Amino acid sequence: MSQKIVSLTVRDVRFPTSVEQHGSDAMHTDPDYSAAYVLIDTDSGLKGFGLTFTLGKGTEIVVCAVEALAPLVVGKSLQEIVSDFRGFYRLLTSDGQIRWLGPEKGVIHLATAAVLNAVWDLWARAEGKPLWKLLVDMDPKQIVSCIDFRYITDVLTEEEAHDILVKAQEGKQQREDEMLKGGYPAYTTSCAWLGYSDQQLQQLCTDALQSGWTKFKVKVGADLEDDKRRCCLIRQMIGPSNTLMIDANQRWDVAEAISWVSSLAEFNPLWIEEPTSPDDILGHAAISKALAPLGIGVATGEQCHNRVMFKQFLQASALQFVQIDSCRLGSVNENLAVMLMAQKFQVPVCPHAGGVGLCELVQHLILFDYICLSANLHNRMCEYVDHLHEHFTSPVVIQDAHYMPPKARWNRKESNEEEVQSFGYKRFAFLKCCGLKVLSVWA
Ligand SMILES: [Mg+2]
Repeated sequence: MSQKIVSLTVRDVRFPTSVEQHGSDAMHTDPDYSAAYVLIDTDSGLKGFGLTFTLGKGTEIVVCAVEALAPLVVGKSLQEIVSDFRGFYRLLTSDGQIRWLGPEKGVIHLATAAVLNAVWDLWARAEGKPLWKLLVDMDPKQIVSCIDFRYITDVLTEEEAHDILVKAQEGKQQREDEMLKGGYPAYTTSCAWLGYSDQQLQQLCTDALQSGWTKFKVKVGADLEDDKRRCCLIRQMIGPSNTLMIDANQRWDVAEAISWVSSLAEFNPLWIEEPTSPDDILGHAAISKALAPLGIGVATGEQCHNRVMFKQFLQASALQFVQIDSCRLGSVNENLAVMLMAQKFQVPVCPHAGGVGLCELVQHLILFDYICLSANLHNRMCEYVDHLHEHFTSPVVIQDAHYMPPKARWNRKESNEEEVQSFGYKRFAFLKCCGLKVLSVWA
């Protein structure tokens, strides 16, 4: 079974979510959830699917970047890649010419994520396992062999990473059983997008409470009086014991962030997410220090370029919640590095999700984090956003506000016609134009 990759194609897929203000926040007021969607074909007929997430305009640039990486992938066999995954990661991220476009950041790194996500998908399908199970079944040595430790050995060496993974082997089966039974805790962002009216917020919040949700995130940062009103409304509805988080999506300067969030402290948020520029490590450290006495942590990561940035955030005590992203970092490989560093610093990982496909992807990583690394659920939860799941062959399954582990096995034939017809693409006529039938990733 060589599984030689014979082609890599990429499509620009967009959903008009801005029409109803889904996903709107203080900086991204009219997002159209979109993706650069990668399909890898092999000589055996097995396919791998991957994507990276965007907000609409510019997806065509990511598509170009994926096409620039394709020659590094086509012609390789799956076996060749996974027997030296660290080397393959480096091949994609360190090409002597393409590297200039990053390195490991921006559009080229989004493209790297899409390509590598498809390669991991191919591997999981070849093994007949959902991705989380592929990872959980790998031994510590194999996990470590997938990670590029360049630039992070001052904080985490290969040997340390190996030791952390070995130590966490104890109780692994028990945690896997626990996850299969009850799932991983989730919180919802879908009730309180910035563009939603108070009435809509109240209705969605009522529905969410009835469905068993206990953790809620509110978008803030455009207008302080509006934020106070909205936070008051939602706190009154969810009561004092449920969890509230707030998210400013990079709206403020450092001093402004401190004073604005202090004004919202009465609503007892667990964290303020992305208070300022995602690149400002020392700014986040200053905000963390100022808000600590109020019991408010800082969360960030959805636009954190790479493991080197996360390393510095952790070194500087600039965040109290690590928000990995399945499509911003260099796929599973780089997310493994970040989860291991977070474990070393004992900072909880609470993944960013939402958009299109992010929930479907990141659920696999957080299951691995719990089963094979953290063994801890205190202040740990994965974001959930209730949009566009119907476009996936295996949409996430939420049960009692928990992500239920995907159990799919990929021995069956992909994308049969019956399945395709049940996904309602008529609503998105442009999808038909690009020939896309159904989205499929990792599950
Ligand atoms: Mg956010």
